[in-house]
Amino acid sequence: MRTAVVVGAGIGGLATAGALARSGWQVTLLERGDRVRAERTALVLWPNGVRALRALGLGEGLAAIATPLPDVGVRRPDGHWLVQPRPVPGDRAPVVVHREDLHDALVAGLGDRVEIRTGVEVRTVRATDGERPTVGDGRSSYEADLVVAADGIDSAVRRRLAPGATVVSSGCAAWRAVIPWYRAPQLPVDRPVDGETLGAGYRFVAASLGDRGSSGGSTRGGIYWVATAAGASRPEPPATQLALLRRWFADWPAPIGDLLAATEPEDLVQQEVRELRPLPKSYGFPAGAGGVVLLGDSAHAMPHHLGQGACLALEDAATLRSVVREAVPGAPLREAVESYSRLRRPRAVTVVRQTRRMSAVLQTRGRLALRARDAALGTITPRLMGSAATAAAQWRPPA
Ligand SMILES: Cc1cc2nc3c(=O)[nH]c(=O)nc-3n(C[C@H](O)[C@H](O)[C@H](O)COP(=O)(O)OP(=O)(O)OC[C@H]3O[C@@H](n4cnc5c(N)ncnc54)[C@H](O)[C@@H]3O)c2cc1C
Repeated sequence: MRTAVVVGAGIGGLATAGALARSGWQVTLLERGDRVRAERTALVLWPNGVRALRALGLGEGLAAIATPLPDVGVRRPDGHWLVQPRPVPGDRAPVVVHREDLHDALVAGLGDRVEIRTGVEVRTVRATDGERPTVGDGRSSYEADLVVAADGIDSAVRRRLAPGATVVSSGCAAWRAVIPWYRAPQLPVDRPVDGETLGAGYRFVAASLGDRGSSGGSTRGGIYWVATAAGASRPEPPATQLALLRRWFADWPAPIGDLLAATEPEDLVQQEVRELRPLPKSYGFPAGAGGVVLLGDSAHAMPHHLGQGACLALEDAATLRSVVREAVPGAPLREAVESYSRLRRPRAVTVVRQTRRMSAVLQTRGRLALRARDAALGTITPRLMGSAATAAAQWRPPA
């Protein structure tokens, strides 16, 4: 039986481990944490992410946990439209899911054929000709026909195989929260929750997870918001960070103030936004009768501005499953490892380039620059996240 070791049990690792196991591989999943768990936040899945989930055989349950995200346009903090909302064709509409719901679906997709080892922090990797690819944590080593590095932006495997790709700050910090429905503010009907507001160096996006009082939609419903601010992340305790956020966004249009007022410090998840620069030159490293591949943030961590990181990780998983489906260890599996890189790297480069362009737009400061940005926004892209829809539309799972 073909064997795989998947390093990291985030969205990318879970999706891949399940997909390989369902295709008949014997899979060991290594996770450094003491448990396999998800963040208490949410994320946007663009149609490419949804298509990838379907290609992985996980599309069935999605309707139960996903809430469609209406086109909300982009406003300035003074309430003026930067980009007017406009109808999005059904197949281009994104959805919002609670990460814990997605995580549960991915864990359910592992079935009982994946051996999960928690508390294993991979530190070493061997990927040389003539030997089976192997990873180790200093105590034990794990070898297989295929090693999948899904160990996130600080990937120990990538540092060894693609040391030229370095992790750098994207120049901003992000805060996220899900306000559970029982604590969420009651908003007037003409003030929808969903919305995106973009100011000089600041951005606020909010989206509903399911309906208040309905059991449909997310099982962990509420209001999800993500705030981005140029500069470093804050060392203060969460209560002080929340006070800062309330001050920064004080004059921004409703319901931003209401949402921040309803947020508790323990809801906050702060993150320094980081990315890989440059990207690794290859995502596939043939070794032994197979090789090592980089997947998800380990391969192409990027700022969150287009909401594409997890979507790309799912695309990676669907592509990998497709290229290794018929590949037996030996020349065919080594070739599959190279095909995976050939298919995935150009795609990641395109999305990362788009995201970096958005980074520059989002972090614009200064009156002249802001005017140029405001003028450009309407022409660069129908709306900020709309460019993700364009990127999304370009991807189809390999046959
Ligand atoms: C503010 C913000 C908002 C975002 N919003 C969106 C969005 O709306 N849509 C979207 O598609 N994406 C979004 N993203 C990006 C998305 O969260 C990531 O791209 C995605 O979670 C990456 O998944 P991953 O499995 O590759 O890596 P990770 O989630 O980082 O998982 C890596 C796993 O590997 C484990 N690990 C790490 N090192 C080791 C080791 N040495 N040995 C063993 N295990 C190890 C970790 O513990 C972890 O479990 C957002 C990101 C941010 C910061």
